[in-house]
Amino acid sequence: MIKLVDVSKYYKTESTVVMGLHKVNLEFNIGEFVAITGESGSGKSTLLNVISGVDSYEDGELYIDNEETSYYSQADFEKFRKEHVAFIFQSYNLIENYSVLQNVEAALIIKNVEKKERIKRAKNIIDRVGLTSRIRAKTSKLSGGEKQRLAIARALAQNTKFIVADEPTGNLDSKSGEAILKLLHDLSKDKLIIIVTHNYEQVEPYITRKIRLFDGEVVEDKIIKQIEVVEENIIKNQNGVKNNIFKIPLKFALMNLLSQPKKTILILLVTIMTTFFLFIFYGGYATIKAVMTDFSSYPAYNGFDERIIITKGKDDQGNNISLTESDYDFLKSLKYVDDVIKYEEGLDTPLNFNNIDYEYDLKITSLYNQEPYMYPVSLISETDLLGGRLPENPNEIVISYLESYNKTKNNEIAEHLNASSIKLDANLKHINNVSGEVFKIKNFEIVGITKENTEVFGVFVVDDTLKDISNLYNVSEPKIVVKYNIEGESGEVILDRSYVGIGIDYSLKENELLIGTEMEDFISNLEDENNAQNIKLFYEDKEIQIVIENLDDYYSFYVNSNLLIEDSFPIYQYSLIVKDTTKLKSVINSLSNNQYEGLSYLLASENVDDNLSGDLLVISIAFGFYAIFLIVIIYLFSYLSIRSVLLSSKKNYNIFRVLGISPKQIQIMSGIEVIISFLYAYLFNLVVFILIKNLNIKYVSEYISYIKFTDYLLLLIVNIGLSILVANRYSKLLSKRSLMATVKVGG
Ligand code: ADP
Ligand code: MG
Repeated sequence: MIKLVDVSKYYKTESTVVMGLHKVNLEFNIGEFVAITGESGSGKSTLLNVISGVDSYEDGELYIDNEETSYYSQADFEKFRKEHVAFIFQSYNLIENYSVLQNVEAALIIKNVEKKERIKRAKNIIDRVGLTSRIRAKTSKLSGGEKQRLAIARALAQNTKFIVADEPTGNLDSKSGEAILKLLHDLSKDKLIIIVTHNYEQVEPYITRKIRLFDGEVVEDKIIKQIEVVEENIIKNQNGVKNNIFKIPLKFALMNLLSQPKKTILILLVTIMTTFFLFIFYGGYATIKAVMTDFSSYPAYNGFDERIIITKGKDDQGNNISLTESDYDFLKSLKYVDDVIKYEEGLDTPLNFNNIDYEYDLKITSLYNQEPYMYPVSLISETDLLGGRLPENPNEIVISYLESYNKTKNNEIAEHLNASSIKLDANLKHINNVSGEVFKIKNFEIVGITKENTEVFGVFVVDDTLKDISNLYNVSEPKIVVKYNIEGESGEVILDRSYVGIGIDYSLKENELLIGTEMEDFISNLEDENNAQNIKLFYEDKEIQIVIENLDDYYSFYVNSNLLIEDSFPIYQYSLIVKDTTKLKSVINSLSNNQYEGLSYLLASENVDDNLSGDLLVISIAFGFYAIFLIVIIYLFSYLSIRSVLLSSKKNYNIFRVLGISPKQIQIMSGIEVIISFLYAYLFNLVVFILIKNLNIKYVSEYISYIKFTDYLLLLIVNIGLSILVANRYSKLLSKRSLMATVKVGG
């Protein structure tokens, strides 16, 4: 029940005071269908605004359910309007890009009705206004009459006792107009409906009461149809709707993005472009930084932290001084030294595995992202193992945790290694070697796997494995000599390194030589051609037995590692493994006190960083300025383009206001829309960059590889920051548009 007592309203302008309403006394009750008529400027809209709490008044009192409203604050009126008044406008005020169903749903979302119930209720209501056949249609495709029926459906969904309508048939032909009036008439039985119209004839058959205004005064208040007036409250005792500040805006934001695919795609394109620029820019910085700090004067490939390379410098003649057993013993006795590696070629030799036990299908090369290096087993201990055991013999290795496999797979491998080993072959690429010669090791065995957090990625071997590999390199002219006897005369054929390759097969016995079928043919041909007897094979002066296998490379031969020459070459460089990297400096100091030169990659690269830090600082500052400039440009660009796209839906935001969503929530809603777009753009770029990185496109992939995980995080933060800036700027712009502009009828 709504009651006005001596209500007056004036519009004060600078020079004049215009009378809006003058001493109006009226009372409205549930069940009434009231038409307010009067000529233009008579105060119809003003009256409607006052009784629906949209506009204030100067004199008199407005009672809602017999309660004075003079103590109502702006927020109280807002709450009253939101919960108890539904508006129907001449211009419909529907969200044009929503479907019929969504427009009705919108009113229910605001009331926090859960999805299932929401759709059920919405369908019911749509049926009541006769739009079931158009339920999925986009609102913009509806005819005027249908739109107004939808507006009524939405008002019904709002489920208020009080409906105000401003010229609801003003834009409709007479037939549709009458249908609307009939609908309102049917609804009015348990509601209070007040309708403003200048076409009294049209509404007369449906209304219960007529009020005519003239110059702001009520000049006629006539009952047209006697109804049973119910003294029922307008403000029903409903439970206040719990208003989660984020939940409702989030639902609408998603609905908005989905219901305007063209706009969404446009915004996405803009954000993808700007994010892409950001990624490219940052990649440039990361690349320059990486290239500048790349340390290339280190005399080895595998610069792991615990390694110190030891040399003795040059003698007076300028020749390198070789290291001896006594050096070895001395170095081994040094404090903080874990291990001394005499034969270090193996440390700098990347491995490439094949013929791996197919049960596990371990593509170890790709699992390690690059070909793994070998590390001395002294770097790890029993407690670092996930499964299996430490290597004891040259043919045994421990692999580090396989990051590219999941935990389960790693555990599975570990369990297998607890029971038995995994056999594999390795190709060794000695990258120092100009010829790029590939050596091979057959029948390596994986005997263990480390836990997840072992710092080194690669394989761990005993020192003797490193020695074997060193020997493999240093066998200068390995040769097989085929000696034979023809009728008492002996002869020989030498197969040297220019003809055959050499490898180690750990499964061979000490006097065995493994050759491929091709070489077998060669030897038997020799027998046939020369009718030779007593053919004997020697490898480096030792007589050997041949074992024949179908090798994939015919011209290689494999020997037991014991057959390789030992220790007969001078060694100029050892590697020393320290227990603890914090002791690197002190170890290097005590080395130089004893006429050794020690070089640590870790310390050397720190020095490089120190030396470079000046230049890097200058470059970083320059990049910083450039970054700020770029971010401002990106911000402006994305703000302007997103603004032009989103502003076209500003009418929608005003409609949300009318439906009772607070300005704050509308800000959040638009913010979420922008932020979701930026996040999508980020993800899109992330996927594109990762794809490019893995496609191994020359230069491009390398460029991207300099962007590290933490850099991607930084980019994400910058992106979110940017999106919040844009969203904030945009929502401020939106909130400038006042509610009045939309809600005030006829204003
Ligand atoms: P109607 O809806 O019947 O055409 P209104 O309620 O819009 O009439 O206007 C009533 C009177 O108040 C008119 O004289 C109009 O000029 C005046 N009026 C309405 N709104 C304003 C306003 N915002 N500022 C000044 N005068 C106004
Ligand atoms: Mg008007």
